[in-house]
Amino acid sequence: MSQPIMLVTGGSRGIGAATAIIGAARGYRVALTYQSQSAAADAVVQTITEAGGTAMAMQADVGVEADVLKVFKTIDEQWGKLDVLVNNAGMLEKQMRLDQMDVARWQRVLNANVIGSFLCAREAVLRMSTRHGGKGGSIVNLSSAAARLGSPNEFIDYAASKGAVDTMTFGLAKEVAAEGIRVNAVRPGLIYTDIHTSAGEPGRVERAKDAVPMKRGGTAEEVAEAVLWLASEQSSYVTGTLIDVTGGR
Ligand code: NAP
Repeated sequence: MSQPIMLVTGGSRGIGAATAIIGAARGYRVALTYQSQSAAADAVVQTITEAGGTAMAMQADVGVEADVLKVFKTIDEQWGKLDVLVNNAGMLEKQMRLDQMDVARWQRVLNANVIGSFLCAREAVLRMSTRHGGKGGSIVNLSSAAARLGSPNEFIDYAASKGAVDTMTFGLAKEVAAEGIRVNAVRPGLIYTDIHTSAGEPGRVERAKDAVPMKRGGTAEEVAEAVLWLASEQSSYVTGTLIDVTGGR
């Protein structure tokens, strides 16, 4: 049996990198994408290959259709049909109130987080669905606890983009459930990654962690474990589900 194929978008850093590295150790061939930090992506590929795994990295902006089509075509040609999509690439911008935000920002956030997830999900369904000659598969979306908290005074646009990811998870799960594809989402809380630097507050997790019932931030690896369970056959009767990885927040 050949090794199953997993695509992790935004696999160069943070939660995506942890998912790629642990996933490869569990037997997946891992294709990962990055937006601009090629050295970080190369380092993840090196970690995987040095441990005896198989990985490749590709540059792609998930909000650009041509980039996404190229990624899926490369996987088709080099490895074959995709088994798992981890829709992980995501971003946020500087903390501010909604009344300070401009349209260009909303377009960037919604394009990367919503259109990017939709584009990758479409291409995955075209390959996995038994309706299209596929053998099934699993799609795991990275949402956020922000989808239910709303992120006031920080990034309501980001929170709303994750609300859209949750809704896509519910709808797509039902749409393709009889075609061999499971669709679920993980909603992390405060996780130690570089994403908080983009928000303008690198120490955000330390500042906010006392509001977490477990009184600590989470690690990328703790989120990756939930992602990999949803990706695997161990969750074979689970679809249309959101798993919060938030320390109880
Ligand atoms: P991160 O450390 O900032 O890493 C983001 C990754 O996504 C990087 O690989 C980055 O590529 C890539 N990326 C960003 N925008 C992209 C785009 N337009 N096209 C392609 N790739 C793009 O983020 P993270 O904290 O691991 O977050 C991963 C996911 O979890 C995101 O969807 C995020 O919203 C979600 N999440 C995170 C937290 C948290 O506390 N960390 C909480 C809830 C949800 P480069 O390396 O090239 O920049």
